[in-house]
Amino acid sequence: MAAPIRPNVLGLTPYSPGKPIDEVKRELGIDSVIKLASNENPLGPSPKAIAAVENAAWSMNIYPDGSGYALKQALSKRFQLPTGQIVLGNGSDELIHLLGLVFLGSEQDEVVVGDPSFVRYDAAAQLAPSKLIKVPLDSDYKHDLVAMRKRVNDNTKLVFIANPNNPTGTVVLKKELDHFFSDLPKNTVVVLDEAYFEFAEGLADFPNSLDYVREGRNVVGLRTFSKTYGLAGIRIGYAFTTPAIADGLDRAREPFNVNSLAQVAAIAALDDREHIQETLANNRKGMSRVNRALRAHGAHACESYANFVFADLGRPAGPVFQALLKKGVIIRSGEIFGTPNCVRITIGTEDEIDRFIQAFDEVINEGRF
Ligand code: PMP
Repeated sequence: MAAPIRPNVLGLTPYSPGKPIDEVKRELGIDSVIKLASNENPLGPSPKAIAAVENAAWSMNIYPDGSGYALKQALSKRFQLPTGQIVLGNGSDELIHLLGLVFLGSEQDEVVVGDPSFVRYDAAAQLAPSKLIKVPLDSDYKHDLVAMRKRVNDNTKLVFIANPNNPTGTVVLKKELDHFFSDLPKNTVVVLDEAYFEFAEGLADFPNSLDYVREGRNVVGLRTFSKTYGLAGIRIGYAFTTPAIADGLDRAREPFNVNSLAQVAAIAALDDREHIQETLANNRKGMSRVNRALRAHGAHACESYANFVFADLGRPAGPVFQALLKKGVIIRSGEIFGTPNCVRITIGTEDEIDRFIQAFDEVINEGRF
């Protein structure tokens, strides 16, 4: 029997997560596997968040606070933005999905994204449905804001700019973004996806979505607790935006979209400066080591301001990915991003990076791919 599934749903490509560690162990019969493929925090969650979750677990018979009152208060205080301009999501993934529901719904509605950029934008656009316009990154793998601006017209409902970008880790600077915003159609909403914001924060002239939101622009800034804060498994992200857009997202969301454990974990993690500082320091050190290892073998590594490195190996990456997998090292191969010569490697702990560098050296030197 054929089920009447909407054609735009059938057109979606299911999300392909990084290969799970247990699956690789089973398939290859090896005991020790490391995963540098999903941009998670290698140091684990904030210990303060663990304690908060342990405590809150005793109340999980009770529905969560659907308004996320305490977490919104904490975010409001931290970022000096009224709670009415903050929206919580079951990960920022959910907020991307909600943006599609709220703003899109016909082939006349256009969505502009970079290519390659985060794949969930495409899914939100296709599901709506809408017309998806993909604008190639420039030769430095950065968002080409000039080319993207040319594709914006009165039908453009959403523009997604991941800053830093996933999978490349590259950034756009404030002056480029200011230029992009000048004379933008009034009805176009720009989504600044800052999932990796904290890793790039110290960079001179790095833009902050909050500034554009405070100016009253049609902007949605997306942030997450999944990366720097180490809470990817519990699912919690948030948006800064105008009161009107916050209201729209709020109407469309499920009543209890953010679970109670995620809410307390996020409040605790937000204040754990020590965990954040360790995370950033580990990332800085690891990033330069991975970059050096890649360059030593002639790979071109992008200038990344996130917790991963994207590199062009100058040869098909699939066999290198497979050879690394056999050595128990999971990375991302670029085929899924439309860049088959590239790899994306998440910065792990010092030990994990030792293991990656050794495996990568062996794979390239042995030429076994
Ligand atoms: N945006 C970007 C650019 C990402 O890389 C990710 C995580 N892969 C997300 C959003 C989603 O993050 P989460 O749903 O875990 O908050």
